Parts: sequence; structure tokens; C-alpha cells
Amino acid sequence: MSDFVSVAIDGPAGAGKSTIARRVAAELGYLYVDTGAIYRTVGYHMSLMGIGPKDTDGIRRCLDDVNIDVRYGEDGLQHMILNGADVTDAIRTPEMSAMASGVATQSCVRDYLLDMQRNLARTNNVLMDGRDIGTVVLPNATVKIFLTASVGVRAERRFKELVAKGQDVKYEDIYTDIVKRDEQDMNRPIAPLRCADDAEVVDSSQMSIDQVVAELKAIIRKKAGK
Ligand code: C5P
Repeated sequence: MSDFVSVAIDGPAGAGKSTIARRVAAELGYLYVDTGAIYRTVGYHMSLMGIGPKDTDGIRRCLDDVNIDVRYGEDGLQHMILNGADVTDAIRTPEMSAMASGVATQSCVRDYLLDMQRNLARTNNVLMDGRDIGTVVLPNATVKIFLTASVGVRAERRFKELVAKGQDVKYEDIYTDIVKRDEQDMNRPIAPLRCADDAEVVDSSQMSIDQVVAELKAIIRKKAGK
């Protein structure tokens, strides 16, 4: 058994996982691992190579010589490095959301990323967010949380986030994108998004960020004793 504490936070797109998880991790002094960013980086690489998300052979070939790294800046923020270049900002577009969800259905991609994710938890106290952390990546996680919210609330939050970043997006498109990603993430045969049997469910639809942060910290303290 590892001496490190691992907190798995899973849930659908736009449930506020990364905003909340980043804050909780900083307040508890844990390493925050945003696994969606890793899938986005794979998707970004495939799109640069002109390879579609359904092209299993092309993706497998490309994975042989790609170099993907997770680095933490002095600010504690997770940076995604693709073949030596920092792509942290470039992966945050609606196109890359769709691309990430597409390549994430491929078993070669999921297998390729499994060790990277597990190694981070082997050597750090981590708070890792994604879709299959409590069910597949860290099935023995110290604490498992399933963070969700209604589709309307999630679309609204994602819309505001992208507008604040200066992106020219329409609410209807974001809503459709979220419904499509939920459908794809929950119904794929490998590592579908689902709530682990031993996870605590937190529905953030009617909660402020501060309230969710406080709730998660209370759950973690209770289960991890820290
Ligand atoms: O969390 P984020 O929205 O950045 O994730 C992008 C996509 O990556 C998700 O829609 C999902 O398909 C995929 N993903 C995954 N497993 C994870 C994290 C993300 O399949 N652990």
C-alpha cells in the first residue's frame, strides 16, 4: 500500500472539476492532476498530424513517436508539454474538447496514458480529476468523489469560462457539445464515465464554488484523516 493519499474526482464535462479540484489541492498541499488535459494533448497532437479520432491505426502509429509530459510550474500549475512545446493554452478550445473525447474512446490511447497517471499518484499526494479515475486509474484511491451538475448549469459555466477567455462561442453550441460529450463519455465500451460504487456524489448545481470546495475538503478530511 502506498503511503500517499490519492483523491479521485470524476464527473461529466463542465461540472466544475478543474476549478474546484485545483483549489482543494492547493489548500491541502496536494499535487493536482488534470487528466482531461492529458487527453486533450493527445487529441491536439492527432489534429496537428491530420489524424481523425476514429483512425485507430493512425493514432496507434502516432503514439509511437510522440512525447507527452506533465510539468508543474513554480506557480504550481500543470503545464502540458507536447514534443517539447508548451500547449497548455492551445488545448482549451471547443474543437479540442471534441477531439479529446474522440481519441479517449480508443483503447490504445487509454493504455498509453495509464502508467503516466498512476506514476504521478505513486510518488505524490494527489488530487486527480477525470472520468475513470476512481473506477480504472486509481481503483484503490483513498477518497473517491463524483462531482456532477445539471446539463444547463454545466453549459452555462463552460460558456462563461470561454467568453471570459475571449473566445467567440455560442451558448447553444456549448450546450450541444456537452450533451454530445456526456453521451460519448458515458457510452464508450472502455472506461466509460460512471460513478464508482464507493464514491461520494456531490451535485454542485445549486452550490457556489466556495461551498463545493468546503464540502470536498470535509469529505477528504473525514476519509483520509488529513
Ligand atoms: O476534463 P476535460 O473536459 O478536459 O476532458 C476532455 C475529454 O477527455 C473528456 O470529454 C473525456 O472524453 C476525456 N477524458 C477521459 N478520461 C479522463 C479524462 C478525460 O476519457 N480521465
